[in-house]
Amino acid sequence: MTEGDYRHVYIIIEHEEGKILQVSLEMIGEARRMLDDFNKKYSSKEKVVAVLLGHNIKDISGVLIQHGADAVICSDHPELRYVRNTIYTKTIFQIATDREIAAKIEPEYAIQFKRPRYMFFAADSIGRHLSSTVLAHLESGLASDINKLVVGDLQITHQNKTGGKPMTYEKTLEMYRPDFSGFLWTTILCLDNKNPAMQKDYHPQSCSIIPGVFEIIKPDPSRKGMIIEHVPKFDAQDLRVRIIDRKIIKSEIDFDSRKTIVSFGRGIKDSPEQNIKMIEELASELDAQIGITLPLSKKPFSVSQATDSSYLIPDRVIGISGRKVSPKVYIAIGISGAMQHISGMRDSEFIVAINPDENAPIKDECDVFIKGRMEDVVPIMIEEIRKQKQVVQA
Ligand SMILES: Cc1cc2nc3c(=O)[nH]c(=O)nc-3n(C[C@H](O)[C@H](O)[C@H](O)COP(=O)(O)OP(=O)(O)OC[C@H]3O[C@@H](n4cnc5c(N)ncnc54)[C@H](O)[C@@H]3O)c2cc1C
Repeated sequence: MTEGDYRHVYIIIEHEEGKILQVSLEMIGEARRMLDDFNKKYSSKEKVVAVLLGHNIKDISGVLIQHGADAVICSDHPELRYVRNTIYTKTIFQIATDREIAAKIEPEYAIQFKRPRYMFFAADSIGRHLSSTVLAHLESGLASDINKLVVGDLQITHQNKTGGKPMTYEKTLEMYRPDFSGFLWTTILCLDNKNPAMQKDYHPQSCSIIPGVFEIIKPDPSRKGMIIEHVPKFDAQDLRVRIIDRKIIKSEIDFDSRKTIVSFGRGIKDSPEQNIKMIEELASELDAQIGITLPLSKKPFSVSQATDSSYLIPDRVIGISGRKVSPKVYIAIGISGAMQHISGMRDSEFIVAINPDENAPIKDECDVFIKGRMEDVVPIMIEEIRKQKQVVQA
């Protein structure tokens, strides 16, 4: 393996019946910024490549180019209309290892091309599943739920990777992942084994990216790019799973029509049942819908059956593993503000957080931070809202 075996950033685009998801445009934006610096620094001509699968989707390729892609590889096939992991994985694998496609993207790099250098997926339910199966087929590593990317030349000494000797890894993607509710960042590297005793390449360096963290580039209708068509190859085995009918199940928890959402997190811990009742009262005064953080849907506290089945349910989770909301007012009670939660509510117009810890990351995301325990703050809010209502009615 040599460094020239890997070229370009391939981005797996998601869309719903032809409507491109925001996160896909965000990934293109970040890849564009990253590669512009990269090409300047390394005097190279590597490209931002969008990989688009579906049926009757060629028309949306132009949108991807306007948002920063140099090339769109479009696999348009009736069997690809809906995401099915087996055939999507196979198609992406075919695209990622296709030298003819690479020759169209940049002829100069085609002879040596083996794999993309980097590959991005969305950190949503489809992207997380696909990224794991695609990278398993490509026999490389994967970092999940990333919110910062840096390319660097690193000196690494590692018993297995480098045989204990210091070695330089050029153009390494440092993938940052928020952990411990956003209080710590873990840096994940996907490194080739350069140790002569156990050489193996680990490319593409790949990750899934949290929606809402990177900026979309302002679309430029005059941007030029190429559209490359790919014809996927399936065999009978691949098509054993068929979609006969498809219904989108609408959630019973209606966040969209409410102006206010009151959400709570693990901060209810000191008296979960009473605190949920208190939050329910506040929500009722505000005619608000109630949301929760992901850990609460895993039922970490003992509460009555009625409270459990009404509130501690996956349908109420807000964030990358749940719903994306954008009410006029979002009240976060006992929520630390992990990136995975924030990306589901940061489009709210006005955000209030109640938390005794002023170092909680939610403080940087809210318009009003009330430092205090919910047990002290929420009753005052309820009382004040009731008083205000009486004034309005009088
Ligand atoms: C792949 C992946 C996907 C994820 N997806 C999601 C997702 O979609 N949505 C999501 O929410 N999370 C998600 N998470 C989890 C996320 O990383 C955080 O762990 C989670 O959001 C933290 O929940 P929390 O704020 O309720 O709890 P904590 O982080 O434990 O925070 C509790 C907060 O309550 C405060 N507190 C304590 N006592 C009180 C009190 N008396 N009154 C008021 N405040 C108090 C504390 O100071 C603290 O800030 C995901 C994680 C991973 C790895």
